[in-house]
Amino acid sequence: MLYNVAQLMKASVGATLEYPIHEEGVQLDEDLKIVGPLDGHVRIRRTNQGLLVDGWVDLVLELSCTRCLTTFEQPLHVPFMEQFYPTVDVVTGIALPPIDEEDIFPIDDHHIIDLTEAIRQNVLIAIPMVTLCREDCAGLCSQCGHDLNLGPCDWQARS
Ligand SMILES: [Zn+2]
Ligand SMILES: [Zn+2]
Repeated sequence: MLYNVAQLMKASVGATLEYPIHEEGVQLDEDLKIVGPLDGHVRIRRTNQGLLVDGWVDLVLELSCTRCLTTFEQPLHVPFMEQFYPTVDVVTGIALPPIDEEDIFPIDDHHIIDLTEAIRQNVLIAIPMVTLCREDCAGLCSQCGHDLNLGPCDWQARS
């Protein structure tokens, strides 16, 4: 997810570019399985120091159920807003001193920004701690491990 922002970095504060996002076969993180395309929208605005990048992505993740361990597909709507700062001066090409701030992303020396890492971080935050295949998932039997969504196990039927 690369965007060339050279023209925008030469523009005045408040100048804005907007793009639809449509990416097939995205691999954000080795632990994240994305089913189908990633769709969304991004708005890139010139600020005093760099760029304010915000927007959203819609994607479907393959997650495993916290209770019964079955994998299931979870649609997610993930808004994001991040700051990007230049690493070189867009007019002179001279390297700029690194900015001592956390949670910022670089605009590289070819004036390209890559949204992948910003989106990866926001997607990870958007995944709930407890992921359930359905709200009333019955989970696994604590004695034999049988999936109780499929009905009671022998152990339970006897007790
Ligand atoms: Zn489940
Ligand atoms: Zn059982």
